[in-house]
Amino acid sequence: MSFFNKFIPSAMIALSITSCNTPEKQNEDFNYNVDRFADIEVLRYKVPEFDSLSVKQKALVYYLTEAAITGRDILWDQNGKYNLRIRQTLEEIYKNFNGDKTSAEFKAFEKYLKQIWFANGIHHHYSTDKFVPEFSAEFFATQVKAVNADNLPLNGQSVDELIAELTPVIFDPTIMAKRVNQAEGEDLILTSANNLYDGGVTQAEVEAYFASLKNPADTTPISYGLNSRKVKKDGKVIEEIYKVGGLYSDAISRIVSLLEKAANYAENEAQLNTINKLVEYYKTGDLRQFDEYSILWLQDTASQVDFINGFIESYGDPLGMTGAWESIVNFKNQAASQRTEIISANAQWFEDHSPIDSRFKKEEVKGVSAKVITAAILSGDAYPATPIGINLPNSNWIRAQYGSKSVTIENITQAYDAASQGNGFNEEFVIDEPTRELMAKYLFITDNLHTDLHECLGHGSGKLLPGVDPDALKAHSSTLEETRADLFALYYLADPKLVELGLLDDPEAYKAEYYKYMLNGMMTQLMRIEPGKDVEEAHMRNRKLIAEWAYEHGKDEGVVALDTINGKTYIRIKDYDKLRSLFGELLHEIQRIKSEGDYEAGKNLVEKYAIKVDPKLHAEILERYSHLDIAPYKGFVNPIYTPVFDENGEITDVTVTYGEGYIEQMLRYSRDYSPLTK
Ligand code: ZN
Repeated sequence: MSFFNKFIPSAMIALSITSCNTPEKQNEDFNYNVDRFADIEVLRYKVPEFDSLSVKQKALVYYLTEAAITGRDILWDQNGKYNLRIRQTLEEIYKNFNGDKTSAEFKAFEKYLKQIWFANGIHHHYSTDKFVPEFSAEFFATQVKAVNADNLPLNGQSVDELIAELTPVIFDPTIMAKRVNQAEGEDLILTSANNLYDGGVTQAEVEAYFASLKNPADTTPISYGLNSRKVKKDGKVIEEIYKVGGLYSDAISRIVSLLEKAANYAENEAQLNTINKLVEYYKTGDLRQFDEYSILWLQDTASQVDFINGFIESYGDPLGMTGAWESIVNFKNQAASQRTEIISANAQWFEDHSPIDSRFKKEEVKGVSAKVITAAILSGDAYPATPIGINLPNSNWIRAQYGSKSVTIENITQAYDAASQGNGFNEEFVIDEPTRELMAKYLFITDNLHTDLHECLGHGSGKLLPGVDPDALKAHSSTLEETRADLFALYYLADPKLVELGLLDDPEAYKAEYYKYMLNGMMTQLMRIEPGKDVEEAHMRNRKLIAEWAYEHGKDEGVVALDTINGKTYIRIKDYDKLRSLFGELLHEIQRIKSEGDYEAGKNLVEKYAIKVDPKLHAEILERYSHLDIAPYKGFVNPIYTPVFDENGEITDVTVTYGEGYIEQMLRYSRDYSPLTK
């Protein structure tokens, strides 16, 4: 369902870390680094050019950002049914603690709270494993009893009952161990701890329920299950719909009223219609309305201000149906968008020259709209960890008939880049000075171009043969789809066409991205995997698949080598030209697999190249990383928008400020934007 869409997780860029010369040097006094704990670094981002928006546009942004923050609790509850009560309880303890704040126990408690804030729940945002608290259950019980019981989420319980209920959820590692379990052969619903299913409903029951709703002849199917919790009641599967008057009504009603305020400041008719349609969908929960909204949204390319607000990506659902709530408000970066406009305008050329079988090429590439945006707020599934590129909607038939909207979030990539200056990564892992210089010069631009090509063209290219089930690749569809989009981008980064189009000024520039890609795919991304574990996440699998496949298939000709220098392993790329042909060859095969729905071939590639980790190399990488103290995961705090009203209550300006810390922001959001907690 969501396999076409995609987000590149922040960690990709975070791992690309370079001592890159950012094109526009940012003022030195802006502090990008906010907080550091566990495996997390929290950064802040700038919103350049906000002041160049009109007052009307600023007011629009303001109400949309309010609507965004207001939905934060929805994701917390989707991620696990105890999450909001745990958060509320721990925040009460945190705010009222008057013991020794330098004690190991309190520090461990604070770290845990920071971790669950970052993950929007008690499971790691990326691995989805439950966090292991380093403070004791006794400390928890004592502190809960010490706070004012009126501020606890008791819901009719006594304080002791609350403690008894939450203690195993927080402390017992066998209970709700994983938010999203994807281990083949297990009941993925019963073994996953998210709150998208309840009442003991099994995977088989859910699959049977949706199979009965679907009509194979329907060429414009709704996104079944996107906006509901699936529960078993009286022996039957029912859907609790997320809507006004349904599940999450208190949050969604507030979002609706803020969207209605935003609508007063719409830039044009098309945008007004889009906002109104979204409101209608939130009021009815009708997924046909959502499809209509998605079409209006993707067709509105004229507005400068834009936003996503809803149940969008389904990575949090082991069956890939239910959308996690998210919002990103943004406005177009006019200057940088010229880049993606050039790419989009040449979409057909790229499709025609793609190294895939002509039977799988699109005769006519439709509606690829792409732009570079400046994020103004991140919320829900996009906060604090955030994507750097988005391509929506996810519905396959809408993409085929109407196209999609693709964005690259450049103020986020810029913040990653600025925050990683001088962290020692390149010195440790890049083989030599000439390669480091190449990366310093070209990695920022080639990384951005890689994202543009991946999002605007890669996912939208190619076609299925008639009669091929879009879900034929099943559990491997996300990995193979990301592989396809990445290969498309890699292949074209080295094409002289990019220089001809003025997107790069040096035919060798692509080598910076090739080096980083091989290094990341084969080595450095493994720093996010615990010893002995497999690679699980789709984007990590796809990068490993591409890098390992290219390494192995170029081995005899010495295209890429693993050199050992002073006992350390380094990637050496000996023949960049040949590496490009290998990427083209693999793209040819992956496209065939997708177009023909060849599940067996796809599964074999994933199993052979994408999952298993060489324990010796893994241990070496973890050891080398440990000396650098680079956080494997990064995320952001948001800026604060403050409206200025005149005596008639009209907005005359909106200011943006950046000074807020991580803890302050989390506590403020919980205090001021918590429609789902009591
Ligand atoms: Zn993607």
